[in-house]
Amino acid sequence: MMEFISKSEEVDVAVIGCGPGGLTLATLIAESGRRVLALERAKFPRYHIGESLTGTAGDMLRRLHMEPALEKMDAVEKSGVKVIGRDSMSEFFVPVLRPTWQVDRAAFDAALMERAREVGVLIREGSARYVLRDGSRVSGLVYQPSDQPSVALHEVKARVVVDASGHSAFLSQQCVAGPRRVDAFARQIATFAQFKNVRRDPGAMGNNTFIYFSEPLHWAWMIPVTSEVTSVGVVLPASTFSTYGANPQDVLSRGLHSINPELAERMAGARPKERVRVIRNYSYRVDPFVGDGWLCIGDAHRFVDPIFSFGVSMAMSEAEIASTAIRQALATGNCERPFQQFAQRSNAAQDVASDLIRYFWKFPAFFGYQTRGRLRKDFIRLLAGDVFEQEDMPAVVSMRKSLHDVPLGSLREGKARDIARRVHQRYAHFQGVEAAYIAEGEDGVCLSFVLSDEDVDLYEALSDFEEDLYDDFGRDDLAVVSYTPKLASALKRLAPHMSQGFSRRSFHDEGHRIFDRRAS
Ligand code: FAD
Repeated sequence: MMEFISKSEEVDVAVIGCGPGGLTLATLIAESGRRVLALERAKFPRYHIGESLTGTAGDMLRRLHMEPALEKMDAVEKSGVKVIGRDSMSEFFVPVLRPTWQVDRAAFDAALMERAREVGVLIREGSARYVLRDGSRVSGLVYQPSDQPSVALHEVKARVVVDASGHSAFLSQQCVAGPRRVDAFARQIATFAQFKNVRRDPGAMGNNTFIYFSEPLHWAWMIPVTSEVTSVGVVLPASTFSTYGANPQDVLSRGLHSINPELAERMAGARPKERVRVIRNYSYRVDPFVGDGWLCIGDAHRFVDPIFSFGVSMAMSEAEIASTAIRQALATGNCERPFQQFAQRSNAAQDVASDLIRYFWKFPAFFGYQTRGRLRKDFIRLLAGDVFEQEDMPAVVSMRKSLHDVPLGSLREGKARDIARRVHQRYAHFQGVEAAYIAEGEDGVCLSFVLSDEDVDLYEALSDFEEDLYDDFGRDDLAVVSYTPKLASALKRLAPHMSQGFSRRSFHDEGHRIFDRRAS
């Protein structure tokens, strides 16, 4: 049967997705008197991961007058995060700086939706299907309403369309925003569930987030979400996930027991409240994520990693900044400048969050020391979600110095050195990229990446990066090759039979090491 548009409406702003990002943005814009529609495909209340909130998210919730709703839903008042490694040296506690909460997202997102309705946001139940265009400008969307036959679609004409669809990244799927590419923590897998009867500490400490970790990238969380229910999860690199068990339940159970004996003991009398869930390869980014008549916020364009609970906080902060940009665009009719400024601020903040997490995994014990040392205040602010406009903060400068200092040794100032810096910054702490070498010769520069395995997603991400390098450094005298150790040894065997140019360009042995994690 042919699809047809059975209803059409017109608004200033149409928002796809009613998570914390979409609902915060819709509420802030509706408060300023604009007509806003927010579309959600799931029937609320619905489960969602992302239960521990930062102090920055707490500020936004107060601004949205959410305190009574939080009390009604039995949200837990959180005062800090305790991180526990294998020994007391790597244990630390950071306060949240400004009071905040741990929440059951089903009740939390439903309460945010109620608040949005109160300020006049038009909530629609349905799934976004495609965007409307007016030339190159996005001018609205078409959705499938949940309560209508599948052929009867609804149309929304909008001056601005906001993608807040979370991991679905709707505008990326529609090829409006850029493609979705793997990011630094792409190889992680999380398995988790809500439990009753988890043993918590007495008093206020029992309301806090506890993070346990063992070896790098192996960690677990314990987050009390109501007075009775606790969210518990285990996160592992994909390469070790299957060694923990055949299915998610086994992995969760083995992870809880092997990551830290204290956690195992806390779980001794615990009863699961629901099935065990899994999320794989959750770290990605979309670029570009703003354009004429549209922008993306929150997980719809980037998700770094959950260890420091930045997700909701980031989505809400971006919603606030984007709402200012959208109000400006609506007033002037020009989306270009305000949306680009939003994108720059967002990218810079997400990079700070990403570097903080890389820094933690590179120097876990020193990170703990930093939260007690001279830069304590800075680290507490960053962990409270204050990651916007913080590139000059002494802690960020010092952290980046440790992370991005490249041992460039004999490499002369110039093109190869500049490329090496770029590569180090982007990939030295990126899962799946094991090593990078650069060689400089008469016929140009050869950059080679050693990957841990064949992975289409990784190849695609590297290919985008390669294109950026060609744009900035020229294509004619720059060669970029990526290979796995298996392919490298095959090529080496073939090398004597190949042309001199190819073999020289294909192996890093004579090149300068930018980083090589295989040795450590
Ligand atoms: P979402 O909350 O994902 O909301 C998107 C909404 O869009 C959904 O309701 C979805 O149904 C809807 N939607 C999707 N497609 C369509 C469509 N086509 N049409 C209509 N609606 C659509 N963050 C924290 O702050 N604290 C934590 O403790 C935390 N723990 C995490 C643990 C793990 C393992 C993971 C993977 C993430 C965690 N996060 C955490 C991150 C957090 O879940 C997200 O960052 C946050 O929910 C992002 O909010 P959002 O509004 O951008 O998107």
